[in-house]
Amino acid sequence: MRYCMVIDLDKCIGCQTCAVICKMHHAQPQGTWWNRVFTQGSDYHQSAVGTKDGFKIEYLPVSCQMCDNAPCERVCPTGATYKNEEGMILVDYDRCIGCRTCMAACPYGVRQFNWKDPKKAKEEAGYAYGYPFDVTEKGKRLVYTQDRERHVISAIWMIPTPK
Ligand code: SF4
Ligand code: SF4
Ligand code: SF4
Repeated sequence: MRYCMVIDLDKCIGCQTCAVICKMHHAQPQGTWWNRVFTQGSDYHQSAVGTKDGFKIEYLPVSCQMCDNAPCERVCPTGATYKNEEGMILVDYDRCIGCRTCMAACPYGVRQFNWKDPKKAKEEAGYAYGYPFDVTEKGKRLVYTQDRERHVISAIWMIPTPK
């Protein structure tokens, strides 16, 4: 069995809730967004683009594509990036040396490096950057997410202002 997630672009209204809830769930630092939503053809979100037939708005949510023959996996020098039996691309924190080669290789700009000092994170923002906490406590640098238990966050009003 292989897992995947699909998004019906005809139904996407560009609300960015998916991006915010992802950021919240993974306790990402300021400036880091693992899930992003673009307005196609425009530099500004939710701004219409002129066409010969009038104006249009099309949204494009972008998250990890869990690629076949994934570029990030191919270039990783330590084997930290790997694919599990269900086709998910994951990172083994203990093998990651933070070289960021995977960032350069990802054609979707999905990989991001957490530059923040996890020890100072709590003082600066009141919450610990990165997830899970024990990884950030050990001072490790998280480039992506490891296989782990998932928790459902159901209350939309719990979403804080994005940092
Ligand atoms: S931006 Fe994300 S949460 Fe909002 S409608 Fe599109 S896919 Fe759904
Ligand atoms: S991080 Fe980028 S290259 Fe790697 S599987 Fe995800 S989308 Fe593909
Ligand atoms: S930053 Fe980590 S996961 Fe990415 S290529 Fe380097 S060792 Fe591999």
